[in-house]
Amino acid sequence: MKKYDVVIVGLGPTGGTLANLLALNGFSILILEREKSLYSLPRAVHFDDEIMRVFQTIGITKKFLKDTIVNKGTKFVNPEGKILLDWPRPRTITENGWYPSYRFHQPDLERNLRMRLRKFKKVSIRQNSDVCKIESTKDKVDLVFKDTTNQKLHNVSSKYVIGCDGARSTVRTQIGTELDNLGFTQKWVVVDLILKKKKDELPDRTIQYSNPKRPATYCRNVGKRRRWEFAIHDHENEQEILSDNYIWNFLKPWLSPQESSLERKTIYTFQSAIARKWRKERIFIAGDAAHLMPPFMGQGMCAGIRDVSNLAWKISLCIKNKHDEKFLDTYQTERFSNAKEYIETTMRMGEFVNAIGSDKITDNISSKPDGTKKMESIKPKLGFGLGDKADRNRGRIFPQLKMKNGKTLDDKFSTSPIVLSSSELEKKKSKSKIPIITEKEVVGLSNVLKGYEAKAVIVRPDRFILKTCKTTKDFNQIEHLPL
Ligand SMILES: Cc1cc2nc3c(=O)[nH]c(=O)nc-3n(C[C@H](O)[C@H](O)[C@H](O)COP(=O)(O)OP(=O)(O)OC[C@H]3O[C@@H](n4cnc5c(N)ncnc54)[C@H](O)[C@@H]3O)c2cc1C
Repeated sequence: MKKYDVVIVGLGPTGGTLANLLALNGFSILILEREKSLYSLPRAVHFDDEIMRVFQTIGITKKFLKDTIVNKGTKFVNPEGKILLDWPRPRTITENGWYPSYRFHQPDLERNLRMRLRKFKKVSIRQNSDVCKIESTKDKVDLVFKDTTNQKLHNVSSKYVIGCDGARSTVRTQIGTELDNLGFTQKWVVVDLILKKKKDELPDRTIQYSNPKRPATYCRNVGKRRRWEFAIHDHENEQEILSDNYIWNFLKPWLSPQESSLERKTIYTFQSAIARKWRKERIFIAGDAAHLMPPFMGQGMCAGIRDVSNLAWKISLCIKNKHDEKFLDTYQTERFSNAKEYIETTMRMGEFVNAIGSDKITDNISSKPDGTKKMESIKPKLGFGLGDKADRNRGRIFPQLKMKNGKTLDDKFSTSPIVLSSSELEKKKSKSKIPIITEKEVVGLSNVLKGYEAKAVIVRPDRFILKTCKTTKDFNQIEHLPL
């Protein structure tokens, strides 16, 4: 039986990102994907700066950036066209070192992730491979998959299995957990169009049409691509709604068949749900397998990428050092509440678009002098897992700082934890193998440390703060941390 360090089930954006992150550590990885080609229906079109930072770690940004545009934000309008709420995404670089929000085409990202994986000799991708059975023993996981081209069954084993196998996850069923429905369920039609000619009258940002009769969304996507989404009612006939006739009639206020062509159209049931258990022994779930949310904030895929950014370094440490139950438990405790906050905020946004909820979508909403309201993006902390509960900075993302030699800390220490300290003294004293970098080497570090009221900060490989240290004694404890 062939043995691997890790088997990943599903090669969507979650599985592709996880495989790349793990491959950076040189592990042997098998990715099993049921389909023979990329998923062709319209899905994600937005991600944020935190996610671009993960793509930077993987090393795809240089190529992939060409397939993206910077997103200007979202406006919510009522049926009369009056702006109810503005959610601008200013064109300024954030603490993550990227613009706050990008537009993209999901198949472009998936292609980039797959291309990058080709560079790793110990990564194998098997398409047409349907995983049917997984069993965890004390030291390994046994897995059975079917080659769907000839129906032959194959057995493999690995130290860990991660189910990145989407909404109808087999791995989730195999670990015996259920999805808790959080309450939002609604059918929407999603239509992708390609403009045949320039159409400057179309908005240059996302518009949420908060309309009880027909809630709808418009997205300004990359290049000539544009998207409309609209809700459908229970009594409506789905086949009729998906007919070209019906769709062009709906699009009449904005576009005609002479100006654009229909690329893809489909009906999705937008759901909000979260799995109770994200792990059983050496088996994990991540991405849509663990949680589902409607796309109003463009955060479903982002949440999956946050999951695997959290999980990849923890699994890596357990492969390199030793399996640690408690350490691995922190994957769910840290990610669950963060994902849930995105789901709940998205649900409130969905209710507002349906004109049945209030505009109190988040606490980050303020009134502007002209009477309109402005919203800012949410940045939920990680739930409690590692570090000190009393440390108010624990679980926040650490900014991407530049070193004085011009490199960013992320590029220099792509898979490693780091300690950023105010003085050389600490560097000399520490017995830790973790790289220690002082404020002499990093632009702006002294101000950041001042902001944390700390002498040093310990940053995890996923860029989140493990601990801020107020005293030298605190700092010397890094030898006891699970890094
Ligand atoms: C209309 C729409 C718009 C969206 N917009 C956004 C957006 O703007 N931003 C955003 O962040 N998110 C958005 N999302 C959500 C986003 O598309 C998903 O969250 C994302 O695709 C989930 O990625 P995943 O890798 O977890 O799962 P998937 O992409 O579903 O991939 C799972 C993979 O596992 C494979 N698989 C399943 N079962 C097995 C098995 N037994 N054996 C082997 N392989 C298996 C599948 O074939 C599939 O390739 C949107 C979703 C929709 C529907």
